[in-house]
Amino acid sequence: MNDLEKMLSGPRESLNTERGYRLEEVDFNTAYQERNMKYFDSVKEEIRKEIKTGNRSERYARIPGNYRASEGIFGSRRTEFMKIAILGNRLKEFAELDQKIHKKSLHIVLPKEIQERADKISQEIYREHLKNYDIEDMNVSNSVGWLKGPVMDCTKAYFDTVNRKGPDGAVAMVNDRDLMEDGKFRSRYVSAIHEITHVEQYSPDFDPKDERFHEIIPCLQDIIITDEIYKKAKDMDIEEELDYGTSIKISDQEIQLGEMANFYRELESEKGTLGDALVSEESLAFLGL
Ligand SMILES: [Zn+2]
Repeated sequence: MNDLEKMLSGPRESLNTERGYRLEEVDFNTAYQERNMKYFDSVKEEIRKEIKTGNRSERYARIPGNYRASEGIFGSRRTEFMKIAILGNRLKEFAELDQKIHKKSLHIVLPKEIQERADKISQEIYREHLKNYDIEDMNVSNSVGWLKGPVMDCTKAYFDTVNRKGPDGAVAMVNDRDLMEDGKFRSRYVSAIHEITHVEQYSPDFDPKDERFHEIIPCLQDIIITDEIYKKAKDMDIEEELDYGTSIKISDQEIQLGEMANFYRELESEKGTLGDALVSEESLAFLGL
């Protein structure tokens, strides 16, 4: 379990609304995980069958959200992730960023009033994101396992060969509704990008000890994309700084969410990847480390 919902441990979905779902204070680890596990088990069963019959489907994502090590996306951000892990292992305060950036107050920030407009915008952003992978069969519906009802957005890695150190694939699962809370929401398409990013960070030589750094890139990416969605929905300039009334505290610095989004959006475009941006000197100075 390594997702936004991990931070929400305790609550679970109990009320489906027309345009979203809401989390309430009830036992989290039962109903939520049951549905995820059911889907995950069905994927593993399919893989078992393929291995047994030797009848491996060559078609991409025959099983929605399933990424095998041979499919290119799995492990594609390994190098970036390794840099984060190396720095995290050396610098305690940087390692703490993983938990600090994984708080729901930083992710459920879009006002309900813009949901309809934001829905189209975020789906378009998601389509563009998927185009980058340049896989013919890949589309919005098969890129993740879209699950209904009480489920966690999560990515689970698996082994399909014995005696291997690291995983051979991973399954990305996302609730098919936006996450709602207190008149605010988080787009399910942002969640989908988040989960696929976990897939990209895993690799066959993934060290489970580094799982504790797995949220840094996906969560920061969510913040940047969510900020873009908000601005597009409001016809604002991308360089303007939004006040979300929420901040993240690192070392002695208190960084406003809107400021963080702008800073790393720009640094990412300068450095080429978000991982490289994060471990740069400019980033460490910004974080007060
Ligand atoms: Zn996550």
